[in-house]
Amino acid sequence: MSSSRLIVVSAPSGGGKTSIVKEILARHPELEFSVSGTTRRKRPNETGGVDYFFLSKDEFERLIQKRELVEYELIYGNYYGTLRREVDRAVRGGKTMVFDVDVKGALSIKRLYGERAVLIFIEPPSMSVLEQRLRDRKTEDEETFRKRMERVALELETGKQFDFRVVNDTLARAINEVDEIIEKQIQS
Ligand code: 5GP
Repeated sequence: MSSSRLIVVSAPSGGGKTSIVKEILARHPELEFSVSGTTRRKRPNETGGVDYFFLSKDEFERLIQKRELVEYELIYGNYYGTLRREVDRAVRGGKTMVFDVDVKGALSIKRLYGERAVLIFIEPPSMSVLEQRLRDRKTEDEETFRKRMERVALELETGKQFDFRVVNDTLARAINEVDEIIEKQIQS
């Protein structure tokens, strides 16, 4: 069997997950990133087809009907989903792929792909740090901010079922820990 793995990284909003995933991908050109589809609006620093495929609600619902998503969730009023063709690309090519999905999506990927999927949960050092980080990001209006904070308890609870948990106390340390976990998985 090839050493292809599906590395799934989840964290509550503001948990620093995107920075960690970006740095891991920069360090490991051999890793592929699974670009998800979403109906949420593009942020100014994002690129379509790179960060997400930005889709209309109709386009997304068509993907659901055509069973082109391996999993999808409605999060903060927007759809997010993993494209079957992204996963197939990794599995067929024997590549290790990195996923940035929410906790429920992570468990779905585990259910579908079993041992091949490795779930890493990025934990905030505390609730107050998490709240501050999300405020500092300044990407959310007050309503979305509240929705994101309400979801945190569910996320922290679900994170207990993950294969690995990494506390994001300092970004550099957390990145190194995630990197070590992935290196071991690729080698095993
Ligand atoms: P954001 O809007 O901050 O980019 O993402 C919001 C949440 O959606 C994050 O927890 C992110 O990991 C999650 N997410 C992104 N893509 C997917 C996906 O394909 N499936 C699922 N289930 N969650 C996703």
